[in-house]
Amino acid sequence: MKVLVVEDEKKIASLIRKDLEARGFVVDVAHRGDEGFTLASTQPYDVIVLDIMLPGRDGLSILRGLRERGMDVPVLLLTARSELNERLEGLNLGADDYLTKPFYIEELGARILALGRRASGIARSLLQVADLTVNLINREVTRGGRKLELTNREFVLLERLMRSPGRVFTRSQILEQAWDSDFDPGTNLVDVYVQRLRKKVDSETDVRLIETVRGVGYRIRGPD
Ligand code: CA
Repeated sequence: MKVLVVEDEKKIASLIRKDLEARGFVVDVAHRGDEGFTLASTQPYDVIVLDIMLPGRDGLSILRGLRERGMDVPVLLLTARSELNERLEGLNLGADDYLTKPFYIEELGARILALGRRASGIARSLLQVADLTVNLINREVTRGGRKLELTNREFVLLERLMRSPGRVFTRSQILEQAWDSDFDPGTNLVDVYVQRLRKKVDSETDVRLIETVRGVGYRIRGPD
């Protein structure tokens, strides 16, 4: 999952980033509202965490701007205890959830996970293609019953591909969806990671599931 955190209090923002990254999420952070809106309206995120009082552009205005553009990405508002009116206005504008500061960091992570799941329509917690399974709850990956040890990044990459079997992802789509926005799009990072992933997933079997589509990108083999 890729998450955007728009929060001007740097300590809180970095605490959130650390916790979410430890859960295997890909995280972008914006400390200003205008910067946050630009990212939110140009990059694909699964969930956006939005503070209300922000320099540059406030959270409610960002939310309104996104919904006016027809973007229905799940938004979780961070509100102060005193911001009751803002909270209500946020929910009216189409916020999906809110947390009142101060909050427990574990709760934020759990809610983001729930929002992301709901949005992608995944009631199920298991992705499966042929004999490859990805358990989204305990993060266990198996091929033919054999457990595979993946790094966080490899897991995110595999999850992306497994959510849409047969769909071809270009390198830049993979980079956009599985990496934060600090990476140079000219890098061959995606190829390196796909090769690593392929070694773990496909090396001990005759049936290759991770396919290269020449000149385009990669996909997980779809149902034939
Ligand atoms: Ca603030």
